[in-house]
Amino acid sequence: MKRNITKYRKNDKNSFIQMNNFQFSTLNSPLLKIHSYESMGTFDGPGLRLVVFMQGCNFRCLYCANPDTIDSKGGKETEVEEIVRMAVSQKAFFGKKGGITFSGGEPTFQAKALIPLFKRLKEEGIHICLDSNGGIWNKEVEELLSLTDLVLLDIKEFNPARHLTLTERDNKQTLATAAWLESHQKPMWLRYVLVPGYSDFEEDIIALGEYFKNYRMIQRIEILPYHTLGVHKYESLGKPYLLQNIKENTIEQLDRARELFSRYFPVVYVN
Ligand code: SF4
Repeated sequence: MKRNITKYRKNDKNSFIQMNNFQFSTLNSPLLKIHSYESMGTFDGPGLRLVVFMQGCNFRCLYCANPDTIDSKGGKETEVEEIVRMAVSQKAFFGKKGGITFSGGEPTFQAKALIPLFKRLKEEGIHICLDSNGGIWNKEVEELLSLTDLVLLDIKEFNPARHLTLTERDNKQTLATAAWLESHQKPMWLRYVLVPGYSDFEEDIIALGEYFKNYRMIQRIEILPYHTLGVHKYESLGKPYLLQNIKENTIEQLDRARELFSRYFPVVYVN
């Protein structure tokens, strides 16, 4: 329940000014570390969305398009209410389908700080998407997922060894997170970046399909074409881009992946 309280603080002249609509429930909330925002986003969840890119990630994907979000040390410290205000001010544009999406980086990296924000957004009636690699698990992540309306779960690869090569992490927890979402009836979209020579193996996509084919909470599959739009960021960070020789997908590769996924899932998009 939202509790509006009237609070007073001193101004420079030592007199009191009134702070209206101060949210008591988020008074002592930890600050969030935000990398950037995108208004009216159409790629990260249904409808028009405010997309919040969070700082910090537990994975190290070779193709990461936002390598500047990985280090947990960066980002702008931001209060919960600042993001609530931003979302509420854009609510008229969200319509019936839209809302707010947390992406990154990896949002669950800051699960503890996000919980009070998610509670406030729910109070304001705003639809919440969480774009996650599913690789972090603790009590706070569990609570955060239970407050989320739709999870965009990134499956980087199904084959454990190839997943490790691609992300420097294993995929056990991601699969466990998917199982938790299924058993808790939490809607999810599976997202799959199709990287030629790294994640476009027919046998891996078939194995993924066999593994997830009976999941009822998977509403759609999104195939995300591999792109190189973030490569210039590696130069400015002084990091090598290790997929220099990988070309973007051909139409045939995308069609083939779509056909493979469609054998198991009724709704498959190339995003
Ligand atoms: S999970 Fe996302 S943000 Fe993290 S390294 Fe991979 S692509 Fe980058």
